[in-house]
Amino acid sequence: MISLQDIQQARENIADIVHQTPILTSTQLSGLCGNHIFLKGEHLQKIGAFKIRGATNKVKQVVQDGGKLVTAASSGNHGQAVAYIANKLGIPATIVVPEDANPSKVAAIKAYGGKVEKCGFTSRERIPRAKALADQNNGIFIPPYDDSLIIAGQGTIGLEILEQVKDADIVVVPIGGGGLISGILTAIKETNPSVKVVGVEPESANDTYLSLQKGEITAIQETTTIADGLRTIQPGDVTFPIVQKYIDDIVLVSEAEIKQAMRIVLERMKQLIEPSSAVTVAATMFGKIKAKDKKIVCVISGGNVDLNQLDVFIR
Ligand SMILES: *Cc1c(COP(=O)(O)O)cnc(C)c1O
Repeated sequence: MISLQDIQQARENIADIVHQTPILTSTQLSGLCGNHIFLKGEHLQKIGAFKIRGATNKVKQVVQDGGKLVTAASSGNHGQAVAYIANKLGIPATIVVPEDANPSKVAAIKAYGGKVEKCGFTSRERIPRAKALADQNNGIFIPPYDDSLIIAGQGTIGLEILEQVKDADIVVVPIGGGGLISGILTAIKETNPSVKVVGVEPESANDTYLSLQKGEITAIQETTTIADGLRTIQPGDVTFPIVQKYIDDIVLVSEAEIKQAMRIVLERMKQLIEPSSAVTVAATMFGKIKAKDKKIVCVISGGNVDLNQLDVFIR
């Protein structure tokens, strides 16, 4: 398991690349939620999502160790983050994406300097391909969450929150594979364990919820939730024990609730956030978190939205 020191080290390692993102507030949103709401704005991060934190911490280590290439299997924020940081550090990145990958996402990876290779339709095909490409070319496969350096990088958000919202009561975090929340849990619980951390999943992507209930890693069927960053079908081997050790609570939100949260944040706060981040606002708005007049920090994990799909998301 990683420690607070690993996260402090990560913060130094990535300081020249990542932004310290702002905390945004809205009286209207706080009123709707019955609590004091603070949004941690990772949609304003480099590449538009927090994934650059973990990717930078990891890829810097790879370069230091003499790696000549990195690969990843993600058409989403992780793929963009790996492409961006590899380019910045002067090594090539090949990002393996599905045959039917969204053209705007492929364009974003290319714009960050990544090479794109299409392969299959599921991660079961993509991950072995990305690993093989790394093996053949003296490179390293960069996993999206199940890796200590990735987790430590994501955990730097927790350190920032503790400094930026000094007397926070509850921090609400989206859960995909669990890299983001396990980093934040480590940062917060090893600094100030009285701050509660609550995880959120879409109802149809409730793998961590079920795994916590059963006490062991439990997989679900493939899901099509609009929160595409949270579609992982089981928690990671590295992330799950951390989640199990430290999490205070985990709640679920519906697709309609996610859309409404996204719409409110856009309409009232003029911030475009992606569905995967809107789950934290949805959980707070729709009473999933039992609290009144508390200081609640909702982690807004990213803002990458294909504008052609925007009307689907907020209708
Ligand atoms: C990847 C991602 C998540 C989930 O992070 P995990 O570390 O997989 O739990 C949440 N929101 C956004 C925007 C993401 O890109």
